[in-house]
Amino acid sequence: MNPRREVIEAGAVAVDGETIVAVGRTDEVAKQHKSGRIIDAKGKIVLPGFVNAHSHAIHNLLRGGLSVDKSLYDWLWNILNPGVISYKSQDAEIGAALFCAEAFSSGVTTVVDNADWGCIDELSKSTIKTYDQFGMRAMYARMIYDTVYPALEDYIKILEAQHPEIVHVGDRNIELENTGSAIRSVENLIREFHRTADGRISVWPSPGITHYSTKECLLKCRELADRYDAMCSIHVAESRYDKEIYGVSSIEYLDRIGFLSDRILAGHCAQINDRDIRIMKLRDTRVAHNPVSNMFLASGIAPIPKMLAAGITIGLGTDDCNCNCSVNMLADMKTAVLLHKVANLDAAAITAEKILEMATIDGARAVRMEKEIGSIESGKKADLIIVDTGLPNLTPCHNVPGTLVYQASGKEVTTTIINGTVVMEDGRISSIEKKYGSLTALLEKAQQSSNEIIERAGLGKIKDRPWRSFSN
Ligand SMILES: [Zn+2]
Repeated sequence: MNPRREVIEAGAVAVDGETIVAVGRTDEVAKQHKSGRIIDAKGKIVLPGFVNAHSHAIHNLLRGGLSVDKSLYDWLWNILNPGVISYKSQDAEIGAALFCAEAFSSGVTTVVDNADWGCIDELSKSTIKTYDQFGMRAMYARMIYDTVYPALEDYIKILEAQHPEIVHVGDRNIELENTGSAIRSVENLIREFHRTADGRISVWPSPGITHYSTKECLLKCRELADRYDAMCSIHVAESRYDKEIYGVSSIEYLDRIGFLSDRILAGHCAQINDRDIRIMKLRDTRVAHNPVSNMFLASGIAPIPKMLAAGITIGLGTDDCNCNCSVNMLADMKTAVLLHKVANLDAAAITAEKILEMATIDGARAVRMEKEIGSIESGKKADLIIVDTGLPNLTPCHNVPGTLVYQASGKEVTTTIINGTVVMEDGRISSIEKKYGSLTALLEKAQQSSNEIIERAGLGKIKDRPWRSFSN
């Protein structure tokens, strides 16, 4: 992945500190770089690390079958929100560590982490510190909910009433945030953590969902993003419930109020029209495509081939660990291309090469870091992964992009390097082993944390639901 899209056979990458200093054939690179540690990647593929352009990391502790067979708002208000507000700061730490372990082993080196209920300050700090500790490159998108669109309010009450045993947001007296204090809280988090950890950690002011954000919140977040050289991540037109607002499309509304720009990363856009695409192109608004989540929650099919043809920058996201329910970019690449092939009855709707670009350099552009990450070039940050090809499912291999996208399961990444630091080698994450004793010990802690969260959130009845061959 470089501007010439070269596949270099018998190649090598030289890294000095945080930076890639040479890329080329091994004999040529070795002549200039004789000393230092060597990682042997013979018979393997070296790729830029994957940019996961949309995720919600610590929701992973709500996995395990709770969220299945639910539509977006039922899942949001009856599983996700009751769960997240029941977290304690140590749960956020365990969730973020579990996320790092899963993400590193699937080749993710950069993540946009959309933090629901960012108002719970201790969860934010605990998560960010964990990313710092384990070496993840993270954009922490601290989300704000400061209103609820009236047309959705009654529907949400109906959904919540179906599960009186759950401890809902209102039961905990957690209020929608006051706009002014939310903005101050985000700015404090930016001042404390933005561009820390050798530049690996960023903090983004992020109005959570178009329908949960006042105009004032949207514009103040955008102003903060401009001032601090950050971006705003936001959920836009994810489903039919939030396709329109005030009688116009969500994209048109966001444009009319002056929100859209090249600092906006719009997640989903699964329910947008041709005019919305023109508006987004005009504003150079970036998109995070989350195909598995959109299919899981039956939200819709984002018109990605049309957006690509219009020249919109699109990154790929795994979305929520609770509505995917995994962090696996290679698997999601295959799902994405298959989805758009069948949706358009066009076998070349998205090529293997393009989806690899979306997971790497286009993702980097989507988060405005294309000058630093997303490809293997001299001068860029050393965010690299090594993929083992010596496996039955990756044999034979002729065309590298085609083999990776259609044959890999996502478990073939052996080594992950972020900012020049080896965070996983031969499948082992030494920082996790050092902190928790072993990966198994972390998994046991994660299960325990999850059990306690489910208990506090009143989600036991959903956990123990009877066998259900059909559902309403
Ligand atoms: Zn999301």
